[in-house]
Amino acid sequence: MTRSVMAGLLMIVLMSACKKEKQSAEMEETVTVPEQKAEPVEIREFGYNLNDYIVIRDTIKFGDSFGEILQRNKMEYPEIYHIVEKVKDSFNIASLQAGKPYTLLCSKGDSLQRPRCFIYQPNSIDYVVVDFSDSTQVVKGKKPVKLVQREASGVINSSLYETLADNNMDVNVAYRLSDIYAWTIDFFRIDQGDRFKVVYTEKYIDDTIYAGVDKIHAAYFEHRGKPIYAFRFMTDSTKGIVDYFDEDAKNLRRAFLRAPVQFSRISSRYNLKRRIAYYGNRIRPHKGTDFAAPVGTPILATANGTVIESTRRGGNGNYVKVRHNATYTTQYLHMQKRKVKVGDFVKQGDVIGTVGMTGNTSGPHVCYRFWKNGRQVDPFKQDLPDAEPISDSLKTRYLDFIAPVKTQLDKIEFKTVQKDESLESELITLKEEDGISSN
Ligand SMILES: [Zn+2]
Repeated sequence: MTRSVMAGLLMIVLMSACKKEKQSAEMEETVTVPEQKAEPVEIREFGYNLNDYIVIRDTIKFGDSFGEILQRNKMEYPEIYHIVEKVKDSFNIASLQAGKPYTLLCSKGDSLQRPRCFIYQPNSIDYVVVDFSDSTQVVKGKKPVKLVQREASGVINSSLYETLADNNMDVNVAYRLSDIYAWTIDFFRIDQGDRFKVVYTEKYIDDTIYAGVDKIHAAYFEHRGKPIYAFRFMTDSTKGIVDYFDEDAKNLRRAFLRAPVQFSRISSRYNLKRRIAYYGNRIRPHKGTDFAAPVGTPILATANGTVIESTRRGGNGNYVKVRHNATYTTQYLHMQKRKVKVGDFVKQGDVIGTVGMTGNTSGPHVCYRFWKNGRQVDPFKQDLPDAEPISDSLKTRYLDFIAPVKTQLDKIEFKTVQKDESLESELITLKEEDGISSN
């Protein structure tokens, strides 16, 4: 092996955890579980009997790397190099994020008490075990999650978000509901007195630790006296397509999202007669719509489809192009990072890249191009199609499936929380502003 290859690999080993994350104050610091000779109660975690090891728990610090953590814990570089070589295809050691917990299981038999296992927890459920006790291997696991079904309801005083907070509910339910009803209700304009009911599941780890909202199974939203039901139903188990439909099996979703980024503003619209002072006021048509957002903001596929281009080229910078069907194709320019490759099937809302400034741009934004029958058009002027309805063959099964859920939903009583506050909505996304930026 050449010296430069070695140096390159060393760089990878020492690559820092570069994603900033606020370090939680409650995170456990290094704890060594002492040897328990008296009564060895088996403590199992991550598939190991922890009694067999000296357990070191810590969190990834800003600037930490996989290699440094092992080095600090008395491992020699050649061995670290060996481990990294063996795991690099199954575990991305550069993905370690500051603030996330890790665990080292160290050998009791070895006088140096060197680590035999490195376990990383990117979130409260998933973990990755790098076991180098024997032959090095990577095992990905999940902590057992218990799902608890909840029913909730509310009458809106201010915003949906605040109403949920007042009812001591996870506000993520509000975000999920606003996603489900994004095409049918304008959450900027929900009224005092609008009311909702929801049946959803929550996740718990080890029976007690709350780990967030699992799924919204069914919802009822009464907007200006008009009820809109939503039932979760999987229409394609191979592609994992799940949608929400009303009581008549009509899809609540449109085929396209209005914007490829959440919480953004339009910095430049589709405009075939755009003039830019910089170019001597000559016409430079803008066939895209620019959404300004900070670098790193996730870019979402606006509809289901297949990636047909994912590359970096000229003024477009890093871009991804998705073919949705024979009529529609969308393209997303100036990405910082592309997260999909040609041939990938993406679902509406899937993250396909992040906002950047690659190619010709004067500021961070995504230039969203919308093709209809091979020509670029203004997506805001299109009468966009509804998302696929439930097929006739599935409809009977759907109606049977939702019948008991609808009964359950209908039985829930509306709960009110007395609070006198003016109507304001913190929810939702798109603030439109006209202006011109490059490309
Ligand atoms: Zn543009």
